[in-house]
Amino acid sequence: MELRDNQKQLLRTLPGVDTLLDALLVECDSKTPRSVLTAAARQALEQLRRAIFQDKATEVDLAAALTLAQGIVDKKMRPNLTQVVNGTGVVVHTNLGRSLLAQEAFERIGAISNSYSNLEFNLKTGKRGLRYSAVEELICEISGAEAAMVVNNNAGAVLLCLDTLVRGKEAVVSRGELVEIGGAFRIPDVMAKSGGILKEVGTTNRTHLNDYEGAITEETGLFLKVHTSNYQIVGFTKAVSIAELVDLGQKRGIPVMDDLGSGTFVNFGDYGLPSEPTVQQSVAAGADIVTFSGDKLLGGPQAGIIVGKKEHIEAIRKNPLTRALRIDKLTLASLEATLRLYRDEAEAVKKIPTLRMITLGEEETKERANALVKALSGLPVTCTLLNLTSRPGGGSLPLLEIPSCCVGITMEKMGASALEKALRASQTPIIVRIENDTCIIDTRTLQEGDNALIAKALKTIAEKRP
Ligand SMILES: *Cc1c(COP(=O)(O)O)cnc(C)c1O
Repeated sequence: MELRDNQKQLLRTLPGVDTLLDALLVECDSKTPRSVLTAAARQALEQLRRAIFQDKATEVDLAAALTLAQGIVDKKMRPNLTQVVNGTGVVVHTNLGRSLLAQEAFERIGAISNSYSNLEFNLKTGKRGLRYSAVEELICEISGAEAAMVVNNNAGAVLLCLDTLVRGKEAVVSRGELVEIGGAFRIPDVMAKSGGILKEVGTTNRTHLNDYEGAITEETGLFLKVHTSNYQIVGFTKAVSIAELVDLGQKRGIPVMDDLGSGTFVNFGDYGLPSEPTVQQSVAAGADIVTFSGDKLLGGPQAGIIVGKKEHIEAIRKNPLTRALRIDKLTLASLEATLRLYRDEAEAVKKIPTLRMITLGEEETKERANALVKALSGLPVTCTLLNLTSRPGGGSLPLLEIPSCCVGITMEKMGASALEKALRASQTPIIVRIENDTCIIDTRTLQEGDNALIAKALKTIAEKRP
């Protein structure tokens, strides 16, 4: 490649890697590993060299290289998995970590992570114990089920149950319930993986009990009902209730499994929201197996919970897949603490962040919005209170919009999408949504201390503005 004179001139100005490294050593925290500094110096110089070749470079002296390298060092030294502020109003936000743990639950993680525990040790007998025993009794107590076990997540729970119950047999599922959850989890595919044969019945909008009945053959191993977590079929519709299905199953000797997806122990109808089917209802209706997530509406850690009849749970425990889907001890510790809160529902709704946020009244969101506006006073931004809606998220209550008071933020000389991007690039990233060319912060999903983080981010953005 032929270099022009001005490019040659700039390349000559570029400091050497040792010079830059010496400067970095002076400027950076002495605890920064030398390997990080060296890598940052090399990367900074490489970026500047590329900029020169592409005629995009202006300043390439030591000061410019140092600033660039320091930025790279900062980025390398910050954890990749990091706290963010969820201003989206989507409570169980799958991309932002789903549920936040209750204080009680995350404290248990600390307690169990740096000490030995009785994870698989029976303290009474001094012999090997079952890791599920930490939570089985509690789950049975809350749900009314005979037996329970837990695995890594609900996708795993569904796979494990199908693998145990229908390998080589037919599972009858309504065409209206062939869900895709996202992340490549589709009921027909999971069925295929488990070695079960999917037998679709009914139509997309209407499935009757006699559709299930007509599908029964020698090969039928299961009736599977799946919660349509992230969509709703409206209009001329008919689905068979779990109770009706259990009734038919019992007459014909076919077990019934209910994948509740989100799964909740709390009836949201009691809080002025639409009712989701509860785990207790499904168990009371007589479902043989019920599966649900630990970190959707339950508001605990990522886990898959399986409850149901003893004989099935025992068969599931013996399945070698169980070992591959094993729940980790830190999850178990926080799940146990979360479950304990459910012994008193009022307590659970108050202390489990997911439940608290979903049931938060509009008045409270308004108070929060006013507090946020106050925290931003003195900054060069314009705040507007907007009556919008939040969503529960996480494949639950798919159409529900919860009235919520939000704060619209605009900054002069900065469009909404530039501001959104700058907020997202903040030291503690602030995730917002854009509506009508305005950055919207929904206060429903804000946590204690978030107002100060938002103020700090906006202050920095305003100062750096051209
Ligand atoms: C979310 C969901 C799953 C998967 O649960 P994860 O906890 O995400 O693994 C399975 N089935 C249904 C119906 C769901 O909504």
